[in-house]
Amino acid sequence: MENTLQRFLFEHANIRGEIVSLDSSWRQVLERRKYPVSVRKLLGEVTAATTLLAATIKLDGTLSIQIKGHSGLQLALAEATGSNSFRSTAKWSQDNEMILENTNLLKDGAIAVTITPKKSGQPYQGLVQVQGESIQESIEGYMQQSEQLTTRLWLASNDQRASGMLLQKLPTKEPVESDDWNRITTLASTITNQELISLDFEMILNRLFHEETIRVFEGSPMQFICSCSEKRTDGMLQSLGEEEVRSILNEQGNVNITCEFCGKNYIYSSLGIDRIFSGKSIDPVQDSHGSVN
Ligand SMILES: [Zn+2]
Repeated sequence: MENTLQRFLFEHANIRGEIVSLDSSWRQVLERRKYPVSVRKLLGEVTAATTLLAATIKLDGTLSIQIKGHSGLQLALAEATGSNSFRSTAKWSQDNEMILENTNLLKDGAIAVTITPKKSGQPYQGLVQVQGESIQESIEGYMQQSEQLTTRLWLASNDQRASGMLLQKLPTKEPVESDDWNRITTLASTITNQELISLDFEMILNRLFHEETIRVFEGSPMQFICSCSEKRTDGMLQSLGEEEVRSILNEQGNVNITCEFCGKNYIYSSLGIDRIFSGKSIDPVQDSHGSVN
């Protein structure tokens, strides 16, 4: 099933699982810019991982995973909400795109996982250094340390799909038998990237766990939704400070902000800049390409 997150539970084993498949929603991310193959692959994996984690941590707000690398990849960022939407983007050094394809983008990199509650409370950020050449291990380490959740991840992506599978010991009073955990994760590890990306949910479960008793829950639709808004862009300009923003306005005639995730343009004329620094609220004028203040 396209753009779906599926939960399942191993009966009598206190282990839960999730499989996510992002299809057209992932291609919406790719429409924004032409990513080098290596960056696209990593961004797909980060995006799948983010949706899987957001679903395991009962979340009223957002969870983001951000990777900062040192070898051409400047940033890969994915954000998912507790209400089954996500967005993601990446930045890389344009001068050495050839090098990007033959390098370990994660070398000496760091991963930040940030949980931002919707209503009250401060964002919480955990930082881990990247282990090895994949992000799985680092995220598994983060989940163990910060959330005390023993977790395993399998991730794969191409230009059509970003997919992932997560297994996790349930936080229950009765400990998970290590035999169960070892058996089930060993079975799961036989999945290939090609299978993860091409098989649907039922086929994956059948291929890996046909001898286990599994309860399957109803799938949740996943969507690409960008949370950028007029208000957030106002806030970003306010945090830059009036002096800085006025100098951009003087130089360029208006202040033009493009959302990195969805490409929406926010254009501020001098009236719009007056508004955000006067504290008064004026209804913005909308046009078909974006919004003009
Ligand atoms: Zn946006």
